[in-house]
Amino acid sequence: MLHRELIYGIGLGWTAVLGVFLFDLFILRHGWCGHLCPLGAFYALAGKLALLRIRFDTPTCTHCGECARVCPEPQVLNLKEAAAAGMIASGECSNCGRCIGVCPEGTLEFNLRHLIKRPQQPETTEPRQRRAA
Ligand code: SF4
Ligand code: SF4
Repeated sequence: MLHRELIYGIGLGWTAVLGVFLFDLFILRHGWCGHLCPLGAFYALAGKLALLRIRFDTPTCTHCGECARVCPEPQVLNLKEAAAAGMIASGECSNCGRCIGVCPEGTLEFNLRHLIKRPQQPETTEPRQRRAA
């Protein structure tokens, strides 16, 4: 939209971009990219079928919450679902790998979907709330 506005002159595009900016700023963080953008919905569908996934090793997780602190879409880090699937199963996980880098236990790592085994008895806890700064 901004590109068109710059070339063809100021019009409604600026209003739409400003609306998205204000929506993200005051109503919902990552609201447009994470929840409303149709392209994002398509990527989530593609991500759901992705071959490369984040493997989750349930027994080693201490539920410290560090992964959720750095994840750009922390709702994908549902550790109950991850324990059941043996991986971060949400299509909204972008495989950015930030959680792998901060996990102190080595619980998370890249792996191929077909090499990940589902655990027999999944745990049922969520990462703790973020620590106060
Ligand atoms: S950072 Fe690692 S140990 Fe901590 S909650 Fe996340 S997966 Fe578990
Ligand atoms: S790979 Fe990125 S998006 Fe996926 S769970 Fe880890 S930090 Fe979040």
